[in-house]
Amino acid sequence: MARNACRTCQHTWNSRGSDKPTECPSCGGTLVYVVPFSFGPFIRLALLGAVVFTVVHFWDKIGPIISDLSSPKSPPAEAVPPEDRPEPQPAAVDDQVPPVDATLKVEGDGLPAQKVEPAAPEADPVAEAERQRQLEEARKAAEAEAKRQAREKEARRVLEMGKNFESNRNNLRAVEKYREVMERFKDTAAAKEAEGLERAIVERESGS
Ligand SMILES: [Zn+2]
Repeated sequence: MARNACRTCQHTWNSRGSDKPTECPSCGGTLVYVVPFSFGPFIRLALLGAVVFTVVHFWDKIGPIISDLSSPKSPPAEAVPPEDRPEPQPAAVDDQVPPVDATLKVEGDGLPAQKVEPAAPEADPVAEAERQRQLEEARKAAEAEAKRQAREKEARRVLEMGKNFESNRNNLRAVEKYREVMERFKDTAAAKEAEGLERAIVERESGS
């Protein structure tokens, strides 16, 4: 709605919409103009609410534009003559809503879309599954190695018992222990050593 005035007869009237008046409804004169008006407090409040509502609901689209504008100060909207300005909202923003930027930033930060984006690469389910698989593989390998070492240690303990018997000239018990190592701890270094020691005793005794 705009307030119009006629220069010829000073008649004033309201017109709907944003159409520029072309003719005075009173005298038919064409020297008509839009009266620049100031907003009352209630209209200012309503405009502020409309601006905030629009910005909150369309932050995705206008957020980047606003941040572009905020670094180099946007040209003042007052530069536009009032007659060419159908919606007075830009002026309202500049005039009375200095904290509007801060408000919008808070709202913008709360939007899920902006939080999801940076987290997206980490949340790649395929990469995460592969990472878990490798961790599990490494864990199993470490477990197997620990088991192998424990087995080797136990085999060596029995092997040492056999060596003790042998050094005490108890070849019968020594061979018994060497064979125990060979049977119970196959594929260990101790089993291979026990095999050599056992064969040496057997060959010595068969040779004597
Ligand atoms: Zn007139």
